[in-house]
Amino acid sequence: MKFTKDIIIGLEIHVELNTNTKLFCSCPTKGSEKPNSRVCEICLGHPGSKPVVNKKAIEYALKLALALNCKISQEIVFSRKSYFYPDMSKNYQITQYEVPLGKNGKINLKDSSIGITRVHIEEDPASLIHPKGISSSKFVLVDYNRSGNPLCEIVTEPEIDSPKEAREFMKQLITILQYLRIFVPGQNIIKADVNISIKESGYARAEIKNVSGFKEIERALEYEIERQKQLIHGNKKLKQETRAWLPEKGITQLLRTKETEEDYGYIIDPDLVPFEINNELINKLKKELPELPEQKVKKYTEKYKIAKDDAFVISSELKLTELFENIIKKIDPILASKWIRRELIRVLNYNKIELSDFKINETHFIDLLKSIQDKKITEKTAQGLLEKLIEKDFDVNAFVKKENLLIISDSNIIEKYCKEAISENQKVVDDYKKGNENSINFLVGQVMRKSKGKTDAREVKELLKRLIK
Ligand SMILES: [Zn+2]
Repeated sequence: MKFTKDIIIGLEIHVELNTNTKLFCSCPTKGSEKPNSRVCEICLGHPGSKPVVNKKAIEYALKLALALNCKISQEIVFSRKSYFYPDMSKNYQITQYEVPLGKNGKINLKDSSIGITRVHIEEDPASLIHPKGISSSKFVLVDYNRSGNPLCEIVTEPEIDSPKEAREFMKQLITILQYLRIFVPGQNIIKADVNISIKESGYARAEIKNVSGFKEIERALEYEIERQKQLIHGNKKLKQETRAWLPEKGITQLLRTKETEEDYGYIIDPDLVPFEINNELINKLKKELPELPEQKVKKYTEKYKIAKDDAFVISSELKLTELFENIIKKIDPILASKWIRRELIRVLNYNKIELSDFKINETHFIDLLKSIQDKKITEKTAQGLLEKLIEKDFDVNAFVKKENLLIISDSNIIEKYCKEAISENQKVVDDYKKGNENSINFLVGQVMRKSKGKTDAREVKELLKRLIK
């Protein structure tokens, strides 16, 4: 491939699938955290033990490959990747090499599209525990609870142009995984090996291993680009190498010069006979696929006429999509999208509440939006109510009544407040008359204060303009 771009990034992502049992045995993937309590002779790799494929894991991986627009292989073939390391007691990992389950797919981002080279399934190795930290431990403990968990590996084409785009890709992939309900963020692990090369070095490739979280991926890439540029400016030559990301220090560190795939001596696994993926199964899975984020954006913008940016933000979170689709049964979609995208997210950010943690009583949220829609309360009042509702659930309609929060509809009262604001702030009025348009907002603020937020700001502004003339 001939490159011309300044930066070339490719990702190899490992996703833990949310199945109940492991990939080749019936040991549970969740439960006791006591080391080596969820193991059997298969996931411990005893000689003579025979792996049996978990159908659910295959279905999950196929769903992912379909959602990523991949061409699906006609059969499932497993390979052995040979290596010697304590995290894999068989001295090989069962994976797919020669025939991946899906290939040639893509993910569409907001303004670009990234090719997916391959999607395949493999078993997770055990975890190594260094009791005194990785550099000072005299020995290593091995916990096989994780060993044999189903992983999906997703490899992108080297088409990502910037750390920001890498982050956007990861975010979109996680969203798709959530939509498919094959992955639970925070519970299942997602990690990426990040390949990066820059034009100035003649595209010498560095690989950063095991970076978790899309924010960390962006940081690691930003650091690595800078490091490579500095080396070149100092007339140093870059080598192809594998590096580690140290998030606490914010740097990458050399692990080893890169081994090639051939070094692993892959062979087809003789214990696992290849089996056909029939059309019946593919059709069943296709039917089960939910509407994906991209289709949601299309539906929201075309059918409901909501702004593309709003559609993108809402569809990028399964929870927001579900909330949106439930409330538009009763509320105007444009109003609903505006309140979810701007106000709800503002309140969550302000209170430092993660989307995954927030709860809202949908009935009461609908009552709130309905009151705005019917012009019973002002947006200002609604903002205050939403802030309370996120903290603790309450009956919105009863509260509005009890606290007398209904919008002031008596025009005499509004006019009285406006006249007061004008006579109390003659200097501001003079400024406005001299052409300082913004000064009127101060008067609007005064009226809002007098009415305790129960007047419509736009109406007040118009009325003030008429009264000052
Ligand atoms: Zn097992």
